[in-house]
Amino acid sequence: NPIVEFKNVSKTFYTKNGPFQALNQINLAIQEGDIFGIIGLSGAGKSTLVRCINYLEVPTEGEVRIAGRDLGKMNQKELRRQRQEIGMIFQNFNLLMQRNVLDNICFPLEIAGVKKADARKRAEELLEIVGLSDKAKSYPSQLSGGQKQRVAIARALATNPKILLCDEATSALDPTTTKAILALLKEINQKFKITIVIITHEMAVVEEICNQVAIVDAGKLVETGSATDVFSKP
Ligand code: ADP
Ligand code: ADP
Repeated sequence: NPIVEFKNVSKTFYTKNGPFQALNQINLAIQEGDIFGIIGLSGAGKSTLVRCINYLEVPTEGEVRIAGRDLGKMNQKELRRQRQEIGMIFQNFNLLMQRNVLDNICFPLEIAGVKKADARKRAEELLEIVGLSDKAKSYPSQLSGGQKQRVAIARALATNPKILLCDEATSALDPTTTKAILALLKEINQKFKITIVIITHEMAVVEEICNQVAIVDAGKLVETGSATDVFSKP
């Protein structure tokens, strides 16, 4: 059974210039444990598609199912709980600049109502996993891009999600740092059995870690399958 399933998902944005269909009848299945690459040109609809997985965007048509459960049928409380099972990281890291590294990682745990001492302990474990134990008291402004992304990954993993969404997570990083972050994501995928969905426009990223890919063009899914199948086609 797929962990993420889209059934005829469409998304129309209503703008002052009229309606704009960003997603057009998307059918997609992501299996548990996949490292799934979403690729396509800028404006193709990749972010919108991935934001439908945690209902940051609500489809105008169709169904999004996580582990078989239709997000459209959940009430606010169920949706909040569901979102805690989905972590997300971004190109620009989105760290809280006024909080040190440890407190950034504690933040989602505080929101989830975890006791302060337990949150701290969990944050320290996560810092070790991402290799930044010595930076607990540093502030984001004192870190390199790669280190910031490691903090963001630790924060995204704090609530023990089953799925990690990565929106152009390595686009702001140099090739060497990109390789290191991808290696970390692969390690997390294997060690914690977390399904990873990666938006990227960089083929190197796909080749490096994705086992499955979907190509999006003008809101449509034009190709999907194993990375080797999709890219060995004439
Ligand atoms: P990608 O991630 O592939 O670059 P996006 O999903 O961000 O593409 O955007 C797809 C299209 O939808 C773009 O043309 C974008 O301008 C449009 N779009 C995205 N979000 C909104 C929004 N909130 N309102 C209106 N149009 C949007
Ligand atoms: P990305 O870096 O993924 O392309 P954008 O800068 O396109 O992101 O989008 C940033 C935010 O603006 C998102 O919340 C997106 O939904 C919104 N957005 C994108 N395009 C439009 C648009 N044409 N009109 C209104 N909002 C938009």
